[in-house]
Amino acid sequence: MSERYAVIGNPIDFSKSPVIHDEFARATGEDIEYIRILGPLGGFAGAVDAFRARGGRGLNVTAPFKIDAFHYCQVLSPSAQLAGAVNCLKLDGEVAAGENFDGVGLVRDVVHNLRVPLAGRRILLLGAGGAARGALLPFLREKPELLVIVNRTQDKARALAAVASSHAQPGTTVEAAGYGTLGGERFDLVFNATSASLVGQALPLDASVFRDSQLAYELAYGKGLTPFLRTARAGAAVRLCDGVGMLAEQAAEAFAWWRGKRPDTQRVIELLRVPLE
Ligand code: NDP
Repeated sequence: MSERYAVIGNPIDFSKSPVIHDEFARATGEDIEYIRILGPLGGFAGAVDAFRARGGRGLNVTAPFKIDAFHYCQVLSPSAQLAGAVNCLKLDGEVAAGENFDGVGLVRDVVHNLRVPLAGRRILLLGAGGAARGALLPFLREKPELLVIVNRTQDKARALAAVASSHAQPGTTVEAAGYGTLGGERFDLVFNATSASLVGQALPLDASVFRDSQLAYELAYGKGLTPFLRTARAGAAVRLCDGVGMLAEQAAEAFAWWRGKRPDTQRVIELLRVPLE
């Protein structure tokens, strides 16, 4: 019998995870069944318990349940602990183990797929929510020269910068800043880890921030040329990108964790990529 996996979220109809994991299973010859679960708001644990009772072996977790998933697990990886959020569960008997592959997927997309190194670079990270928190350790492992964290609620950016500083290696400086104080700085890479683009909102970001940027990366995917990417283009960022590669790479990490085989992601990325124009 096929082993069972699923993605849980609310809403969930939009999720590309079944397409991705079906393609990974086909490519690797793994026999799995993968479904979508609409988790009831306030009812995450019950929905996961029911899935386990039906033989469920693993779950991808999407909004709004990443924090519920964190509290559900008995075992947490370092990246899940630092993010305070779980985007992948492995269900093994009585034990639920939690991982957060969002950051590792993001870095893999940038360094491996886009071939833009982070080592020695100046990075601007916009946002201090789950995705930004998940990116911290994977960013720091690459030893950037500078990581500046900016968030609408500045206290959260300061708290995150303090946590990140304690994990930074010698040679990496971590700072918190406000949107209004970025004018004079130059950044090699700018990441939009806010959810502003999901509702078509522009950030209070001056285009001059991008004047030396090799890459402007929008973590949201399938939204075309978002306000953030338009600002980056106006500021002459060399390359614009959305988060479809990150999505595929975090899924590949999950698949490898569950099945012991890491699938190639190129076909899935080509399948799901929506033109930015
Ligand atoms: P969270 O809800 O955890 O965090 C949202 C962040 O966006 C907060 O820092 C919030 O600031 C900020 N924000 C929201 N609206 C605005 C606004 N109008 N102006 C400025 N800042 C704003 O979301 P996630 O971290 O889970 O997701 C962030 C983005 O990353 C989303 O676009 C999501 O789709 C994308 N993502 C992509 C993935 C992929 O695989 N490609 C995986 C995970 C996420 P404040 O603290 O002030 O409220």
